[in-house]
Amino acid sequence: MGECIFCQIAADELPSHRVYEAEDVIAFLDVNPLANGHTLVVPREHHERLQECPESTAIALWSAVTELVPAIEAAVDADATNIGINNGSAAGQEISHSHVHIVPRFEGDGGRPIHAVAGRRPDLDDDDLEAIGEAINQHLK
Ligand code: 5GP
Ligand code: ZN
Repeated sequence: MGECIFCQIAADELPSHRVYEAEDVIAFLDVNPLANGHTLVVPREHHERLQECPESTAIALWSAVTELVPAIEAAVDADATNIGINNGSAAGQEISHSHVHIVPRFEGDGGRPIHAVAGRRPDLDDDDLEAIGEAINQHLK
């Protein structure tokens, strides 16, 4: 994936402010941060979507996030964090190399919760929820 910016950062072909390194995962500061300490946690291997990552990479990714969150909060004196993935272009993914955003949050910072990312809320009754739950269950089998 020669053209991928995050592959190039992982290979040290492009600079970054790296804050974490493990066998399968690195983390570095977002170049255009939403808040002080906004960090991207990135698998070294190129996978476009989370569901394309091997299970071992997904585990390493979440392990890195769990380790990084308290360190980032302490470093920038944050009150909280939002943690999220833009998983696909319709969800706002701009870099086609899957990554987790850790965005520090501060009391009164004017930001919104993760509930604010989607469009209009659908009007669903209990039968609708039952059918959707069943469909998801079928796809897991
Ligand atoms: P996405 O929409 O793909 O989830 O977010 C991509 C993120 O990568 C954006 O927040 C953007 O600021 C960040 N980004 C884009 N290019 C670079 C880069 O070259 N270096 C770093 N450190 N971050 C980048
Ligand atoms: Zn890549």
